[in-house]
Amino acid sequence: MALITSVLSMRNLFVLSLALNVSLILRTMYEREQSHHWLSLETQKGQAVQETRLALSPTSSSSAATTQVNTQDGGEKILNLARGDPTMFEKYWRQMGDKATVVIPGWQHISYFSDVTNICWFLEPKFAKEVERVHKAVGNAVTEGRHIVVGTGSSQLYLAALYALSAHDLTEPVSVVSEAPYYSSYPSMTDCLKSGLYKWMGDARSFNKEGAYIELVTSPNNPDGHIRRSVVNRSEGILVHDLAYYWPQYTPISSPADHDLMLFTVSKSTGHAGMRIGWALVKDREIASRMTKFIELNTIGVSKDSQLRAAKILEVISDSSERAGSSAEGESFFEFSYNLMSERWKLLREAVEHSGSFSLPEFRPGFCTFLNRVSESQPAFAWMKCERDIEDCESFLQGHKIFTRGGKHFGVGTEYVRISMLDRDDNFHLLVKRLSAIHI
Ligand code: PMP
Repeated sequence: MALITSVLSMRNLFVLSLALNVSLILRTMYEREQSHHWLSLETQKGQAVQETRLALSPTSSSSAATTQVNTQDGGEKILNLARGDPTMFEKYWRQMGDKATVVIPGWQHISYFSDVTNICWFLEPKFAKEVERVHKAVGNAVTEGRHIVVGTGSSQLYLAALYALSAHDLTEPVSVVSEAPYYSSYPSMTDCLKSGLYKWMGDARSFNKEGAYIELVTSPNNPDGHIRRSVVNRSEGILVHDLAYYWPQYTPISSPADHDLMLFTVSKSTGHAGMRIGWALVKDREIASRMTKFIELNTIGVSKDSQLRAAKILEVISDSSERAGSSAEGESFFEFSYNLMSERWKLLREAVEHSGSFSLPEFRPGFCTFLNRVSESQPAFAWMKCERDIEDCESFLQGHKIFTRGGKHFGVGTEYVRISMLDRDDNFHLLVKRLSAIHI
């Protein structure tokens, strides 16, 4: 009997000690996950050790923390940064936990219709309300006197705009142009159906055809991050302003944009590319109505589930922006994403300088009315030029297992590449490490 008791207590002790160890390990893992804003590239067991500690700028509101990133790939991992997949924002939304969660019962959203009194009859009123609210909170676009048209991403709205703005009784297609380097999807999206209504005509700077045209003004520009204005300036022109990146984490907000047709998307503003939600702010009622018709012909509306989820995400962003500075509940989304972009651009510029084989565009800081201070341009893409007689930058980087999109896709030379700055920490830090080690 005494033996049984002693064996039991030994077992109990063993289980207790196991439980304590597991909880210690879990706690360490949890604390690592929670930490952010300091970048620590560490290596164990003889692999290359690189530790980067980056003090945040004095203007930053965040407290110092540490992000653990894994750069231990042995040089084998293929880094695909050719696409602008905005997974970098995932970290913020994980921190938000249930605040941004939406639950949709099975009986909801069965009808095709949302609000039959609206020109855009599939626009969810809650989504429309949050679009207006976020633009007011950020101060990046005028919504008064505008019709909102929701789309399956701003990609669908781009096509809807072309459809709505083309004269349907002309004998030849209207020309579509944009200043190079332009967003690489414009040519293929414009011409994919070989439409009789509109036709891609390339770089707006060299456009000299008589007659009607549509000019796409992307500001800040994808791929190079510069602020853009129209360049053709002829009376027969109609402008579409693609403002996917006119948000405080990428560029100083100088004033509310006030154009006739503006396109926005959650993909790059909040990072929810997978939700496939964009919106157009349209001054002219007839154009809004024709855009709505296009979406009706294509997809008979836009997912209500996604619209309501987007509304929730925008609501969280507006709440966090209105609370900015005073919050015990954590940073506002734009402070978080501005600081993260700022750290990334600093590291990228250091790596490029260390390498000596590349160059990056320079930007002048400007006053941001949202952040209420001078802020930097820190684009979603690095528009990088290969120096030292490297003619094909995309192939050159591919040799280093870095996949990018080459200049020819954007209407310029092969010495340029576009690199996504929006990937997860591990991939971004691997990029910086690899670039910095390239010396020609
Ligand atoms: N316009 C620009 C300038 C973009 O960069 C993108 C995304 N890469 C889009 C439009 C399309 O965005 P969405 O995901 O909303 O279709």
